[in-house]
Amino acid sequence: MPRLSHTVTGVPQSGIREIMNLAAGRQDVVRLEVGEPLFATPSHIVEAAIRALRDGFTRYTPNAGLPSVREAICARMERDYGVRIGPDSVCVTVGGVGGISSALRAAVDAGDEVLIPDPGWPNYYMMAVVAGAIPRRYPLRPQNGYLPDLDELRSMVGPRTRVLVVNSPSNPLGTVFPPTLVEALVDFAYAHDLILISDEVYDRIVYEGTHRTACACDPDGRVVSVFSASKTYAMTGWRVGYAIAAEGMVRQMAKLQEAYVSCAPAPAQKALEAALTGPQDCVDAMCRTYRENRDLTCQLLTERGIPHRRPEGAFYVWIRVGCRDSTEFARRLLTRYRVALAPGGTFGPSGEGYVRVSLVSPPDAIREGVVRLVEAIGTLAGQTGGCEA
Ligand code: PLP
Repeated sequence: MPRLSHTVTGVPQSGIREIMNLAAGRQDVVRLEVGEPLFATPSHIVEAAIRALRDGFTRYTPNAGLPSVREAICARMERDYGVRIGPDSVCVTVGGVGGISSALRAAVDAGDEVLIPDPGWPNYYMMAVVAGAIPRRYPLRPQNGYLPDLDELRSMVGPRTRVLVVNSPSNPLGTVFPPTLVEALVDFAYAHDLILISDEVYDRIVYEGTHRTACACDPDGRVVSVFSASKTYAMTGWRVGYAIAAEGMVRQMAKLQEAYVSCAPAPAQKALEAALTGPQDCVDAMCRTYRENRDLTCQLLTERGIPHRRPEGAFYVWIRVGCRDSTEFARRLLTRYRVALAPGGTFGPSGEGYVRVSLVSPPDAIREGVVRLVEAIGTLAGQTGGCEA
């Protein structure tokens, strides 16, 4: 085979994937690595998609999405956040991934720098590299409540810095930024002339605190707030999300969609419309389950003295296991204790020594998985580079 792009072949494979592949097909493994709801998509959404298919929504749509879907998104932004926008400020995308990657691609030229969270969702790193940009990780430190530190961010901004990526509610930390911090981050982006890409795909999965959308305080068209149907409505496989941005940014994102995906799938767009305009009690019910699982997990960990972060949002618990090689820890945990979870190092160098447990599994599985994890920490953490916990 002729040689392929160095840029693409040089991007590392996700460490979570490795664990998922090792766990695949094994009935005896407790699955706590999963990053998606295990609920079925609510039936009124499925029915709407079937109706849409019968009604002929089987073709390309405009690059930025069907007009009725963009209208439904505008109504949702006003209802939930008091944000008044027109459809030209909305781009319907192929999941949240599609919104983040095209906003990033539209913002940078080769060699520009992108500030990404550490620990943070691994795809930011991949997306920046593939766009020809240079990812720079800003640390989220436990002593600062795992929130971005503006002084530290300031020290990282250079002449080539173009984008700041933020994520709240956070994967993997479960932090929900206080509204004042969201405003301060937007001010920061303004002061340093950066584009702020605000990943808000977990915006509806909040247990404590209030989610403030960054686009609500955009001073001059520099904020891109990204949302998704995936987590909110248990629709990961449908591949539909949306971004709210300045019209000029939306035009460029739509152009990029023409190049890469044409548009989000038409039936999935109609399903998103039904999700946004239909009853919302399904979202509340799913959140209640995640919250119960959170309480159970944190209680088990607290009782056994394992340091962890109690999440206010998203559906993950960040646990300190005190090993130096979290991937090796996760591999051994899987083979010896039959528990799959996400190694912290996958989320960036600051994640070493930690693992991420997902709260989407049934309570019995969570209980069993956490008990086995606790048992493993004493032995395995030592074997995988010294236990500091
Ligand atoms: N952002 C974060 C922080 C995520 O965890 C994910 C998925 O795991 C996404 C974005 C993208 O999700 P989707 O493309 O399914 O909307």
